[in-house]
Amino acid sequence: MTDNLYDVLIIGGGPAGLTAGLYTSRAKLKTLLVERMILGGQVMTTTKVENYPGFPGGIDGPDLMVRFQEHCQEFGLETITGEVTGLNDLGAVKEVTVDGQVIRARSVIITTGAEPKKLGIPGEGPFIGRGVSYCATCDGAFFRNVPVAIAGGGDTAAEEALFLSRFASKVYLIHRRDQLRATKLLQERILAHEKIEPVWNTVVAEVLGDNSGVTGLALTAPQGGNRRTLEVAGLFVAVGVVPKAHFLAGLLHLDKDGYILTDAECRTSMPGVFAAGDVRKKILKQIATAVGDGAIAAIVAEKYLDELS
Ligand code: NAP
Repeated sequence: MTDNLYDVLIIGGGPAGLTAGLYTSRAKLKTLLVERMILGGQVMTTTKVENYPGFPGGIDGPDLMVRFQEHCQEFGLETITGEVTGLNDLGAVKEVTVDGQVIRARSVIITTGAEPKKLGIPGEGPFIGRGVSYCATCDGAFFRNVPVAIAGGGDTAAEEALFLSRFASKVYLIHRRDQLRATKLLQERILAHEKIEPVWNTVVAEVLGDNSGVTGLALTAPQGGNRRTLEVAGLFVAVGVVPKAHFLAGLLHLDKDGYILTDAECRTSMPGVFAAGDVRKKILKQIATAVGDGAIAAIVAEKYLDELS
């Protein structure tokens, strides 16, 4: 990294950020991509991606993201690890604070994505890492031949239930309604699976455990009422995601859930700042749409820079 002025600074290294970086590097714009953890984003915790075109039979999430990274390297995309905590608009130049250090860029593309939502119930926090997990791909193998539960009814919950069924003796899928939100294909696989048992119209009220970790869950109807105990060794929480845009509150227009509001071409309320991928308010959150966003944000940023100079 140098302290020169960058043309484009990309915050976040998932599919949207890497695609934006591929496009801007290929367009010979001086680009820096800042990633907080590891490149690849949420896809790194996905076992099999079946709906990204070009990979019949599917591809493992990490394998797909390694291809994205290698592709970016071909065009010399510069990447660093660091946490962005601030964004300051000086007009033609933006100052981005990364790990306390200010980096200057003429445009910024925010692709920070989203992170798993917590249930916010008693016992959840204390048992994180001791039976409560937000990532079946990361932690599923620790639960061999024991019963586990997964809370949620969307695509993530369905995919994680199928993944957990490889290890666990039984997978309870606890959903607050009597119909899954997940796509039909996943629903069919879940309902036909001998190891997966849906628990309909039910929510987890409390995580129970002792010094050894999680021992069970207290379940109720969504509206409350009588509690019953389900004995499991682990709870996987997959009840949706929240956008990672806290550091932008008060700087950019966000919706009530914290997603960045943009126009159709990924422009935010701050000129020269764009948002792409899951952190942006939009109808469909998929790798394919993140990639589309990343490409649009890059091209629109390039146009913005042309008009500036
Ligand atoms: P999601 O689609 O928002 O589903 C969240 C699920 O959790 C819903 O079934 C919801 O119930 C339930 N829920 C929410 N809050 C709850 C609470 N407090 N207590 C109990 N249950 C609660 O989230 P997601 O599954 O993480 O997916 C996020 C996005 O990524 C979606 O757009 C999804 O399509 C996409 N995605 C796609 C793929 C894929 O294409 N292969 C894989 C993973 C994710 P209700 O149904 O009653 O609202």
